[in-house]
Amino acid sequence: MSNLMDTYKRLPVAFVRGEGAYLEDTTGRRYLDALSGIAVCGLGHAHPAVARALAEQSATLLHTSNLYEVPLQASLAEKLCARSGMDRVFFGNSGAEANEAAIKIARLYGHNRGIDVPTTVVMEGSFHGRTMGTLTATGNRKVQAGFEPLLKGFVRAPFGDAGAVAQIAQNNPDVTAVLVEPILGEGGIIIPKDDYLAELRRICDEHDWLLMLDEVQTGNGRVGSLFAYQQSGVMPDVVTTAKGLGNGMPIGACLARGKAAQVLKPGNHGSTFGGNLLACAAAHAVLDTLEADGLMERAIELGERIRTGLAKALAGNNAITDIRGRGLMLAIELASPCGELVQKGLEQGVLINVTRDNVVRLLPPLTLTNAEADELVTRVASTINDA
Ligand SMILES: *Cc1c(COP(=O)(O)O)cnc(C)c1O
Repeated sequence: MSNLMDTYKRLPVAFVRGEGAYLEDTTGRRYLDALSGIAVCGLGHAHPAVARALAEQSATLLHTSNLYEVPLQASLAEKLCARSGMDRVFFGNSGAEANEAAIKIARLYGHNRGIDVPTTVVMEGSFHGRTMGTLTATGNRKVQAGFEPLLKGFVRAPFGDAGAVAQIAQNNPDVTAVLVEPILGEGGIIIPKDDYLAELRRICDEHDWLLMLDEVQTGNGRVGSLFAYQQSGVMPDVVTTAKGLGNGMPIGACLARGKAAQVLKPGNHGSTFGGNLLACAAAHAVLDTLEADGLMERAIELGERIRTGLAKALAGNNAITDIRGRGLMLAIELASPCGELVQKGLEQGVLINVTRDNVVRLLPPLTLTNAEADELVTRVASTINDA
């Protein structure tokens, strides 16, 4: 029995320190971290630039309030906009909060256009968070069950099917926005066709809708560019991110461009902690390190190395139906449910995750050496082959 609410099925291991791609448990055993705290610690554990930024900032000033100017927050917004082509940023503390800001922008944008029930198109298989707004947007009944009544103002389309969204446009005059992950994360690392975002952009332009991308998981360099859309030639109106932005410091961001950047006015939205000095110091260090160390290019190299290695090491295994990914967002799909592989991985000294029942998900740090990437391949392959 624990005094913690029973919200997580936890593995029976606790980590006490980390360094780079390795974590050490209470018994001194070391594990190769192929999950990075679910795409959070992209620079690995105890990264010196992040540690230094946090130490210096915490000894200077942790928090003031958004009642005052926060120069470190403004400079972080400037850095994010310069690197993304977006215009303005709202900071929260998590992915769900970043998406709440996006959902609120879409609703206010709709009301400003005289639409009474502004509606956002969301996708089957998507994951957007656990608040009432974001769980309603999420395309997974398990996340919603028991929390009805859900919110109004959402309509669902199959992921990857721009034609279905065009169909909705014909039938539903209340739609004002599309919210979509460029690659489904929790939904099983599903990569849509190359022209999917461009098609969605075309539909949004035709109907004056906002194209809103949830890059909470795909963002912050993981797929080989700061944001996934930067490889698509498409500019969104709204982008949300969180996970990797603070390398473990909680921070979320909702970036907006053009007309979408003008929607929220004083009094419409806020957060006590959002964009506080400590979180912003961490995010500055993350963005600076991603660029200075060439980690986004490196994510592409490492991703190819790991996929090639896995294809070779798993070649004779008939349980494998697909190995895919972009950058360091990788998946090994099996023919049947494989949740037990997570515990088997622990025994092999590697931290992995299984999502959508039969997809082994790998989200390792972008700072891996080639030798660590090869070790990851060896340990993951023996976890699956020995199962
Ligand atoms: C993790 C995730 C979220 C939710 O982020 P939290 O920080 O847990 O609220 C939202 N969208 C996507 C795509 C995610 O992967």
